[in-house]
Amino acid sequence: MHYSSIKKHLRPYNIFARRKTTINHAFASAIAPNDEYDEVRVRLALKVLGQDPDDALKCVYCDNFAQTWDHVFGTVKNSHFSGHGHRLGNLVPSCKACNSSKGNKDWKEYLQRKGIASGLTIEEIQIREELIQKYLTAHSYSDSIPEHSADYNRLLEIRDEVLDLLKEADILAARIRDSVLPRD
Ligand SMILES: [Zn+2]
Repeated sequence: MHYSSIKKHLRPYNIFARRKTTINHAFASAIAPNDEYDEVRVRLALKVLGQDPDDALKCVYCDNFAQTWDHVFGTVKNSHFSGHGHRLGNLVPSCKACNSSKGNKDWKEYLQRKGIASGLTIEEIQIREELIQKYLTAHSYSDSIPEHSADYNRLLEIRDEVLDLLKEADILAARIRDSVLPRD
């Protein structure tokens, strides 16, 4: 580690800047529809994906052991619900590294890049792509949120009020910081 990395810690902490994305994400994620857990359905879905449900699950992108479930299509886009929920067909086993580096990127592009970087052939990448595509298609759905409903509009208002409160808190925090007398 280089000493200069301390730089970013020697700045005042800004609540709004540091938490804005988290708040937007939470509000969008909270209205994303979800599937109920159904063991039979989950087991069948994993077989479509070419995995053995009785074995440790593998990351669909890189074949390492999976520790997480990746939303193939993120639940949030441009700070709003994307139309893709917490549903079986939108959740695939993933290793931690792939889950965080894929983020909201297009899954096909990510899969290709990952495959090429891991030395896979075009054919091998294609087989993976087809398995994931089959899995997505087998559980396809479309969710739309009543974006013009009173409830939806009120929810967005509440979100904005929360964000405004954070901005106000930052102003107070700065004043408090400035009023702190250095100890000697
Ligand atoms: Zn992976």
